[in-house]
Amino acid sequence: QKFVYDFTEGNKDLKDLLGGKGANLAEMTNLGLPVPPGFTITTEACKVYLDSGAEPPALRDEVSAHLDALEAKMGKKLGQADDPLLVSVRSGAKFSMPGMMDTVLNIGLSDQSVAGLAAQAGDDRFAWDSYRRLIQMFGKTVLGVDGDLFEEAIEQAKHAKGVTVDVDLDAADLKKLVGEFKEIVAKETGRGFPQEPREQMDLAVRAVFDSWNGDRAKLYRRQERIPHDLGTAVNICSMVFGNLGPDSGTGVAFTRDPASGHQGVYGDYLQNAQGEDVVAGIRNTVPLADLEQIDQRSYDQLMQIMETLETHYKDLCDIEFTIERGKLWMLQTRVGKRTAGAAFRIATQLVDQGLIDEPEALRRVNGAQLAQLMFPRFDHEVASGDTVQKIGRGIAASPGAAVGKAVFDSYTAVKWSRSGEKVILIRRETNPDDLDGMIAAEGILTSRGGKTSHAAVVARGMGKTCVCGAEELEVDTKRRRMTVPGRDGKDGIVIEEGDVVSIDGSSGKVYLGEVPVVPSPVVEYFEGRMHAGADDADELVGAVHRIMAYADRVRRLRVRANADNAEDAARARRFGAQGIGLCRTEHMFLGERREKVERLILAHTEEERDTALGELLPLQKNDFVELFEAMDGLPVTVRLLDPPLHEFLPDITELSVRVALAESRKDHNENDLRLLQAVHRLHEQNPMLGLRGVRLGLVIPGLFAMQVRAIAEAAAERRNAKGDPRAEIMIPLVGTVQELEIVREEAERVIAEVEQARGVDLKLTLGTMIELPRAALTAAQIAESADFFSFGTNDLTQTVWGFSRDDVEASFFTAYLEKGIFGVSPFETIDKDGVGSLVRDAAQAGRATRPGLKLGVCGEHGGDPESVHFFHEVGLDYVSCSPFRIPVARLEAGRAAA
Ligand code: PEP
Ligand code: MG
Repeated sequence: QKFVYDFTEGNKDLKDLLGGKGANLAEMTNLGLPVPPGFTITTEACKVYLDSGAEPPALRDEVSAHLDALEAKMGKKLGQADDPLLVSVRSGAKFSMPGMMDTVLNIGLSDQSVAGLAAQAGDDRFAWDSYRRLIQMFGKTVLGVDGDLFEEAIEQAKHAKGVTVDVDLDAADLKKLVGEFKEIVAKETGRGFPQEPREQMDLAVRAVFDSWNGDRAKLYRRQERIPHDLGTAVNICSMVFGNLGPDSGTGVAFTRDPASGHQGVYGDYLQNAQGEDVVAGIRNTVPLADLEQIDQRSYDQLMQIMETLETHYKDLCDIEFTIERGKLWMLQTRVGKRTAGAAFRIATQLVDQGLIDEPEALRRVNGAQLAQLMFPRFDHEVASGDTVQKIGRGIAASPGAAVGKAVFDSYTAVKWSRSGEKVILIRRETNPDDLDGMIAAEGILTSRGGKTSHAAVVARGMGKTCVCGAEELEVDTKRRRMTVPGRDGKDGIVIEEGDVVSIDGSSGKVYLGEVPVVPSPVVEYFEGRMHAGADDADELVGAVHRIMAYADRVRRLRVRANADNAEDAARARRFGAQGIGLCRTEHMFLGERREKVERLILAHTEEERDTALGELLPLQKNDFVELFEAMDGLPVTVRLLDPPLHEFLPDITELSVRVALAESRKDHNENDLRLLQAVHRLHEQNPMLGLRGVRLGLVIPGLFAMQVRAIAEAAAERRNAKGDPRAEIMIPLVGTVQELEIVREEAERVIAEVEQARGVDLKLTLGTMIELPRAALTAAQIAESADFFSFGTNDLTQTVWGFSRDDVEASFFTAYLEKGIFGVSPFETIDKDGVGSLVRDAAQAGRATRPGLKLGVCGEHGGDPESVHFFHEVGLDYVSCSPFRIPVARLEAGRAAA
């Protein structure tokens, strides 16, 4: 096994092994771009280290061989006293984890080689500053010294000299600081700062390996659903310096605007600085376009490289570069993160440029991005009116409209959000320690840093609204407030912790007070209130329109809606639903009809019961007529009553109190007494496992028959009105084919009666939900009696795991997620190995009995992107989900087939 790859040996497809950064450095090297030479230690080496606690034995020699080759190429040795080769040691996992893992720069500097560096660079200050940075970074990340100790020493040095910024410290000051730093290291670690360059390198590599399991990295992986067992690669790269004077600098660039997708010059540049300064957002950068004035040659070369990269990767790339005394070096590139809107635009733009085809365009977007585009945004009228106060404007770093109470630290953000408050996390700038606060907040606002600052990058990754670099806002985290200084004689404004603010991540505007939100243009488009041209790649709605068309063309899965009223059905249809996969009839038993249901439950005699059912029948029928009309020509699966009866009765405690009070007043209410008896009779310890679903239909005479009659009558009425009703009757919670057979027999009799009376052939089908393990396990038998199966993955997950679907997510799931028992709730994304395998086997068994058996899913998973792919793979015919998730399901079904 080979653990080390030279940059000339790898390529962009080796991300598993070399990490994203390593694979792309290799790709650029092989494209002939100016990449400083170096090599990559593989993720396999990291995994061995993490599993066994020691580096693989072969690693040391392999690293030595690659280091020799690197030294030969560079014509100098690592840490060589008179002209040292210096290297950076950088983490680089398969997936980008910005700022979550360690990096050490300037490895190879020592008490001896610092002089050599000074001589070579002709700059004492630079050499001592580099050495100072090494000890600081190495001390903090490799040796675990508290970083504040170094910061305090710097502050003291500045204070002693009477200056405020680092650059006013000269070579002598920095030399003294190096001495102090070394003392700090010695005192804190009990040993001196390692002078041997190879030892520095080996320790730094190990620190990078270890950082894979740092708290921040783990939290980030959980949030981003990155597996914990990938490990990180380590890149050893010869150093180039952006801080060697005004003809040096460092920057980041995008080949297109990651917010809009438009082509152009996007990025930030920082003169006379090292790379980390830009990403940290600590100093203010200039727009990349200004580089043309500063260094025309490097600028032109960079533009050319960007074009090469974009045509090569056929996608938006982001780039980190450094200019060392007029020479341009590429330090990193990768396919860049982008906003959801830009993803759609770029995908269609690239199709138009002939760089990618339609299936590839589908792979470039996803359902989560589409869902994000469907979020409401701020009401423009109100936002520009005078009822709210605009208090600042920053950079639109990550889109969306967020409203919440101002908080100024992560701890408060987490605490308040746990108690149900919506919060906006406001910081001068964020760093990786703010991660849990950022997760908890509705949105993030910073007063410093650009589009590539930590806040911006992380928020975009999380799909969270973010405005950064709102410079007129003065954030005072200690006093938990932010001020907008007064101007032109006007008073300033103070925003205290708890004040409501609204931030617009699409425009960068910040408001004091709550700005109302309005629907997104993408929703307006789906609603048919906004039209899009098929040739429009630039406009968001046009791009969405085209991508949806690609998806609809290739997808095999049909998409239906879970809807139980005409309004939802109509919306679902506008959103592209091809029918209703689940109409839950229990909603038709609530509200003012509850009283009739009560009478049904309380009925003593057959007569009383028939009266109650007779009253419910026309109401139910009417519901169905409306529904069939809204879905005319498309299938409508109506599920017979499912929930336990007690859900239709008053709360047991409330009713007991009422009865007891009445008793004490000697005021008997016969009805309440009977009601209370019924409530007691129907009380169950485990209602979810009790008298519900088909069991109700079997023990309450006439209930299912009434519902079937209502469906049949409604269908007949629609038929008479020249409509095309396509009703499917579905039986819930079936566990054995016997249950289904009994219900089917009765239903068929009722349907035949209606058909005869109305003189029509209704072509009603009768199927079952598969939502109990026993049903899945005996699917072959159940298919004898079912025209279709619809998998109820909510109940199936509940019963397969033994998790109460109404309780566990709020109770112990956080602990399970933290322990990594599962990466995501099985109620959200289908548990492929457990619940999923039951679905797969039942589908197969059902079709073995009845070839062509129609199969669908109507649990919440039907609208979950990852689950949709699974249902595609196991060969279901359709997924059914709530109306708002239909576009997402259509898109993901297309992506699954592309
Ligand atoms: C299910 O169990 O997955 C289902 C769709 O039914 P309900 O959610 O109504 O129990
Ligand atoms: Mg169910």
